[in-house]
Amino acid sequence: MVAWWCQCAGKRCSAAICEYVSTLSDMSKQCCQTKRLSCQKLRVNKLIPTSKAKTTKRLANNNKCLHEMADIKEIVIVVKWSGKEYPVDLADQDTVEVLRHEIYRKTQVRPDRQKLINLKHKGKPAPDNLKLSQLELKPNFKLMMVGSTEADIEDACSLPDDIGEVIDDFDDAEEREESVANSAVYLAKVQRRVRDYKITELSPPREGKKLLVLDIDYTLFDHRSPAETGTELMRPYLHEFLQSAYEHYDIVIWSATSMRWIEEKMRLLGVSNNENYKIMFYLDSNAMISVHMPERGVVDVKPLGVIWSLYKQYSSTNTIMFDDIRRNFLMNPKSGLKIRPFRQAHLNRSKDKELLKLSDYLRNIALHCNDFNLLNHRKWEHYDPKKNS
Ligand SMILES: [Mg+2]
Repeated sequence: MVAWWCQCAGKRCSAAICEYVSTLSDMSKQCCQTKRLSCQKLRVNKLIPTSKAKTTKRLANNNKCLHEMADIKEIVIVVKWSGKEYPVDLADQDTVEVLRHEIYRKTQVRPDRQKLINLKHKGKPAPDNLKLSQLELKPNFKLMMVGSTEADIEDACSLPDDIGEVIDDFDDAEEREESVANSAVYLAKVQRRVRDYKITELSPPREGKKLLVLDIDYTLFDHRSPAETGTELMRPYLHEFLQSAYEHYDIVIWSATSMRWIEEKMRLLGVSNNENYKIMFYLDSNAMISVHMPERGVVDVKPLGVIWSLYKQYSSTNTIMFDDIRRNFLMNPKSGLKIRPFRQAHLNRSKDKELLKLSDYLRNIALHCNDFNLLNHRKWEHYDPKKNS
């Protein structure tokens, strides 16, 4: 395209701006159409080409812009907060501050109240002015956020003390538990897990130790209550409990979530690198099996056979598993101890002593009971070592 326009009496004739003419004669014709005398007196030497330099520069700018646009990558960050996931669409040229703003739009948690747990740059929390491209986030990066909405904070101040527990569970299902535990279909599923699931050992098993398998959510950590920091959601005495248990037990963490998430939570709680105890390994939802219950449909459970098949030194005689949901024990009903769930962390932080009491129970049964099959964990609070020694 050649762009020309005419200049009449020293002024640019707007009607004659004819970017689509390619010859001077066309230009004359076009100008004549304006029926302006000045234009009819158009002389060739009054015709000036559009500043070629300007056009070139504009095109160059356009091209540069197109290239830059092509270089900008769209990214989706999935924000995990309060038990839900919120996908946030951004460009990699956006800053952390923009990210916070977008999170606010989705969650109503103000940017200054957001704690972005795993958004790190050079080992430190990413500053607000940092571009997301500099964080080198992996596709579908999941960002763990802790923070409270203004409404949550108001509610927390007015909640009553004795909130009833609503738990998705089957407390009265012992017979059903037995039939599930012995079902060939489910035992075959366990064997498939044994074959396919890859356990990454963090610390080796120790000779002569028993096995303690722990759930995370509501057992060690309240993952849904409002809080300013992750440690506010940690169950009281967690580290004391783990340190005490480690004396007699190898410890496994098993949570019905993804491995990345388990690792993040354990890091956040200071469990993964604690010098007073070690975790043998983590198991995630992929190590669970699904079981069909006529009344409840399909549920996922945690079969201890996955561990026992790979580590022959452990069995129902020396293994105990804590979870706040009894159905997770369906394959091993006698090995499970249903812990009181730790919820409403902001209200219960100062009074929850469950882990202290359970520390005593674990020590007592380790010292006084040679076969855990003989125990009834439903009555753990009434356990008398003298009767079992
Ligand atoms: Mg749980």
